[in-house]
Amino acid sequence: MDRCWLLVIVSIGWIFGAIDASEGDADPLYRECIEQCEKKGSVGASSIQHCQFLSDGVLVDSPWYMQEPLYVQWKQCNCRSDCQYFCMMQQEKEREALGLKPVKYHGKWPFKRSSVLQEPVSAILSALTLVVQFNGWLSFFLLAYYKLPLRPHSGKTYYEFTCLWHIYGLLSMNAWFWGAIFHTRGFDLTEKLDYSSSVALLGFSLILAVLRTFNVKNEASRVMVAAPLLAFLTTHILYLNFYELDYGLNVKVCITMGIAQVLFWAVWAGITHHPSRFKIWAVVVGGAMAILLELYDFPPYKGYVDSHALWHATNIPLAYLWWSFVYEDAKFRTSTITKKSSFHSSFGLMSKKFL
Ligand SMILES: [Zn+2]
Repeated sequence: MDRCWLLVIVSIGWIFGAIDASEGDADPLYRECIEQCEKKGSVGASSIQHCQFLSDGVLVDSPWYMQEPLYVQWKQCNCRSDCQYFCMMQQEKEREALGLKPVKYHGKWPFKRSSVLQEPVSAILSALTLVVQFNGWLSFFLLAYYKLPLRPHSGKTYYEFTCLWHIYGLLSMNAWFWGAIFHTRGFDLTEKLDYSSSVALLGFSLILAVLRTFNVKNEASRVMVAAPLLAFLTTHILYLNFYELDYGLNVKVCITMGIAQVLFWAVWAGITHHPSRFKIWAVVVGGAMAILLELYDFPPYKGYVDSHALWHATNIPLAYLWWSFVYEDAKFRTSTITKKSSFHSSFGLMSKKFL
């Protein structure tokens, strides 16, 4: 057992050691390229239409409605994003000529664009996961309120974790939505929204894992578990958004929360007699393999498919399997509670007759 823990600690240490901040955007040549591009509106032979500003930030040759502050801001965002793309491509061409391997820029590998999509494969796979998440949550919603019996007086569900799974569903749809947007167009704002949404989802999943695996039903105990984690999550999200978007730190936080919840579910599936424990095992094994894929982190094949895109692909069946576990958990808990309460009421009736 001690050896096992040592292995976990060593592997976590290796995971943390293997993660670095982005190398590409730290390069002074790349930064210089961006600065020049935003000023001149061109990189090498390619001119960037979005960067056609006058020196005071007003758009060149545009009607009045295109001078509106919001539109100008949108153009500036696009200008920056296009400059980042063309400078990255130029830098990578030079690196390739020198026989150097590709490096990451702003936390991402250099991808070839397809139409408006910056990372077409990851963007499409994120959107598909969003559809699967919505479908899973909708099936759960219909089951909880229309197919399973409700408590006679309050009209609430017998399943004690309904509300928590609703929050989980909303947070996961929000995270996959911003994931798809970020892979479509990577601005500072979409990046922060994606990172913040993912942290919020991972953190809440950890809270949910603790509450469900320890079967915490009492409101006060739930608050005691959730409060410190929520405080930490809020601080971390504020730090990322308003102090520094530290990629290395964020990956460490996400991996720690990810591993913690996988351990909670894995141990629970091992000791419980839950009828759907095999689905948890499948998600735990699949999720662990997906994390390994993410850690292997190879540059995009042909400029399109990298390890992150493959990780997105594995998320689609995992999301389906996870919601199917939630669905069966709600059915299982409801039938256990209703059986118990009908047993108690008939036992009560019998004892009244005999007394
Ligand atoms: Zn992604």
